[in-house]
Amino acid sequence: MSKNNLKLPAVEIRELRTNSITGYDGNAKDLVEKAHSTGLKDIERGFQQCAGCSITKAACMTVLIQDAAVIEHGPIGCSTCLHDFNFTYMVNGKLRGVGAPTQRKIFSTNLQEKDTVYGGTRKLEKTIRDVYERTHPNAIFVLSTCASAIIGDDIESVCDAAEDELGIPIVSIVCEGFRTRVWTTGFDAAYHGIARKLIEKSDKRDETKINVINFWGGDRFTEWFAPFGCKPNYITPYSTVNTLKHSGDAAATVMACSTLGSYLANVLETEFGVPEIETAPPYGIAQTDRWFRALGKVLHKEDIAEKVIAEKKEKYLPKIEELREKLKGLKAYVTGGAAHGHALLSVLGELGIEAVGASIFHHDAVFDSKRVENDQLKERVEDFGDVKHYRVCSKQEYELANALGKLKPDILLSRHGGMTLWGAKYGIPSLLVGDEHLSMGYEGILDYGERILDTIENDEFVKNLQKHAINPYTKWWLMQNPDYFFEK
Ligand code: SF4
Repeated sequence: MSKNNLKLPAVEIRELRTNSITGYDGNAKDLVEKAHSTGLKDIERGFQQCAGCSITKAACMTVLIQDAAVIEHGPIGCSTCLHDFNFTYMVNGKLRGVGAPTQRKIFSTNLQEKDTVYGGTRKLEKTIRDVYERTHPNAIFVLSTCASAIIGDDIESVCDAAEDELGIPIVSIVCEGFRTRVWTTGFDAAYHGIARKLIEKSDKRDETKINVINFWGGDRFTEWFAPFGCKPNYITPYSTVNTLKHSGDAAATVMACSTLGSYLANVLETEFGVPEIETAPPYGIAQTDRWFRALGKVLHKEDIAEKVIAEKKEKYLPKIEELREKLKGLKAYVTGGAAHGHALLSVLGELGIEAVGASIFHHDAVFDSKRVENDQLKERVEDFGDVKHYRVCSKQEYELANALGKLKPDILLSRHGGMTLWGAKYGIPSLLVGDEHLSMGYEGILDYGERILDTIENDEFVKNLQKHAINPYTKWWLMQNPDYFFEK
């Protein structure tokens, strides 16, 4: 297991902590083998388009906490991503039983050129006070940006002083974009702050509580945990400062995505004594079997796990079989973050759809737990075979447009907005599902498979769009290999 140091304000970046990479072109089997044997080496690109910023990931894990406020300490432009999560909060609130979602409490210190010369800490002190007086939150998160990091503002000291003055947790999150090329480090940065300042240690275990580290997906877990006599404690979207505080006394931690939860699950286990489930999330039948068994093991309720597996399989397998018949012969391409992209590849395998390729944003060579069982791509390769054209693309759309144009799948599956447009421009039916729980479990295979079928059957829009779409890339580029700009 990796060593965590909650005394330090910043989490170690993924490039160093988990040997994560942002460039690879080959096949999934080779990538998995290298990750677990000789190791992976990142590549430089001779040409690079805009990529992600870790502040977006830190934002989504803090903005969606119901009773907290978030301050972005930097130029106003860096805060645009925070407002996206206001929309997410409103739209997905009902999926999580939040009937009347409130407006998010999002602020910026709006640093100006003058502040970058004289320093921005005074502005930050004033902003923290103003935000406290205006919104009365139960905690305030302060997110750093490239500008505040470059001028060396001591955000941690300002937060500590404000905490003493105001009597609520004021949490500094070190997430400026230039720290890392693997922007999922932003998740770790937010969790690091939460673990340092919010989560309390406990000698007692609440045997009815299971931490679920996830995004904003619908509530699958209440029903799944009920036979075990447990309830989910969701971290962090739609949580409260109080529920987060008490996540250190749960009976176990599970997650919707190994990439998302890797750091916090490991911290909860090593620093707070909450065991992390020893397998990847439940996508695909084989993996869902393993997941329920691992859950049963950690709760010492193996018999209940077997009963749940048997009942669910009896209910869903015949329907999945029927669906497989309808989807026979289809080819799909996947784009998304690791490891949810890996999860979608497993769901495709289960539905009998050929995964012709994937453009996944980064790859974690190891996980914080160092458990090889948490590697969802490895499970996919072992359960359903290789994915021949597998790329790690750092969200480089010019590489996706190139690969997609060559492979011409029947459907493009995406987890991130903005990527499906490439499928649509080529006239390829494209499916974007923001609810990461939709494809989870036995029922998820059915739900997601039916969405795939719907998308393929209703392709008129993309076919029309293709007739009028202009591809901004030259014929020359589309004829090159997608790894053309990788520095060899
Ligand atoms: S990369 Fe830096 S400047 Fe750009 S949005 Fe992120 S924090 Fe702001």
